[in-house]
Amino acid sequence: MTATDTTPPELRPYLTAAHEQLWCEADAFAADHVAARVPLMEASPHEVERELPQLMANRGWFGVTLPKQGYGGMEAGHVAKTVLIHRLGVVSASAAAILQATLIPVGALQHWGTVEQKQRWLPQVADGTALLTIAVTEPDAGGHMGGIETTAEWVGDDEWVITGEKLHIGNSHLAHLHLVVARTALPGVPTSQALTAFLVENDRKGVTVAEHRARLGLHGFSAGRLILDRVRIPAANVLGEVSQGLYVAQSASILYGRSNLTALSLGIHEALVQTTVQFLSTRRRYGGHLSDQPVIQHRIGEMQGRLQTAMTTAYSAVHLLDSGLACDSQLIGAKHTGHQLAAQSAQDAMELHGARALDADYPLQRLFRDIQHTYPPAGTGEFQRIHLAKAALGTAHIQWSDRHAAETA
Ligand SMILES: Cc1cc2nc3c(=O)[nH]c(=O)nc-3n(C[C@H](O)[C@H](O)[C@H](O)COP(=O)(O)OP(=O)(O)OC[C@H]3O[C@@H](n4cnc5c(N)ncnc54)[C@H](O)[C@@H]3O)c2cc1C
Repeated sequence: MTATDTTPPELRPYLTAAHEQLWCEADAFAADHVAARVPLMEASPHEVERELPQLMANRGWFGVTLPKQGYGGMEAGHVAKTVLIHRLGVVSASAAAILQATLIPVGALQHWGTVEQKQRWLPQVADGTALLTIAVTEPDAGGHMGGIETTAEWVGDDEWVITGEKLHIGNSHLAHLHLVVARTALPGVPTSQALTAFLVENDRKGVTVAEHRARLGLHGFSAGRLILDRVRIPAANVLGEVSQGLYVAQSASILYGRSNLTALSLGIHEALVQTTVQFLSTRRRYGGHLSDQPVIQHRIGEMQGRLQTAMTTAYSAVHLLDSGLACDSQLIGAKHTGHQLAAQSAQDAMELHGARALDADYPLQRLFRDIQHTYPPAGTGEFQRIHLAKAALGTAHIQWSDRHAAETA
């Protein structure tokens, strides 16, 4: 079977031969290394999966968007990144989540890092020896970055001291380096000037990762609590300029976070449709199968239509990004729509399975739990709609995709 036999026709305008090759590689990896681990991860929600990230790192996938020259990355771009997350996500949303969570701070480091910072860390990302987190969310500051309470205080002698707590931090238990956004200005200073991003090594004195706690879904993926107790950080670890922390976090979230979460929800969505079609077309009824019933076919048709829309929206947005075109609003819209459509299909899938949906040893309840995890990160639906309304009203001011294109050029 050739690659084009496996990729959906609606995606062909966005996929090169190299993307199709990567698609097949990701599918093979998922079949050979991920599928068998899914029941193990499901059975041990209190444990963090550590082997899969190592296997993905060995393939260089954490460096998918990094340049080859100087860093040893794959230099494969955003469509390739989407292919990897999407294909892994069909088999295991947890595996896809592990990959995508590190790719967000890697993007930030690539765009905002100094030459020294990039030379130190990016080759380690590309060869799989360093994983990163982006640590923005706090117990009392989620989507509201102006509410960040973690402070970084300049204490002279070339040092900052960071104190605070970060929550829901993807790959918290795997990472060697945390991109921490902290308050560096006094209260009253506008958020756009009050925050700074820092690179905080996991082994610095005062850094603690709280015990991993099981969550509703994404078993095996850690999204835990990071405690920073008077952590001393050299000035050379500031990422971007002092007071640009909002922009570092915002650009990473729009250019990498949105598309990563879109790809993750797409993988889950595809698995939902596959599982449901398989069930309905084998469940006997009236001498045939449930899938013969017109009412059932209408609902399958709706699920398939949603999946195709989510698929095209996801890939067209990252194709624009790879093409150097302004596309913030498309990246945001794809994340928003992708989650919504997948969540609707998850509800349909549950209903169409009857009581079978509820069996703990059947994959559907895992997919139903996992899809709940693609709503909050990289901007909840409310925040996506605020951004989209700005696009409609012509009041959006920064286009991070434009800046990214100018930088790449
Ligand atoms: C799987 C997963 C991975 C994550 N990974 C990371 C990570 O790597 N790094 C990181 O920093 N964070 C991460 N997060 C956290 C995520 O970014 C936050 O959950 C998100 O920003 C929302 O914050 P919150 O959960 O505190 O909700 P809140 O901000 O408390 O919001 C609660 C509800 O109120 C709504 N709301 C809030 N403010 C407004 C407003 N002004 N107007 C209208 N509605 C509003 C929200 O949309 C939401 O529905 C992750 C979360 C998950 C689930």
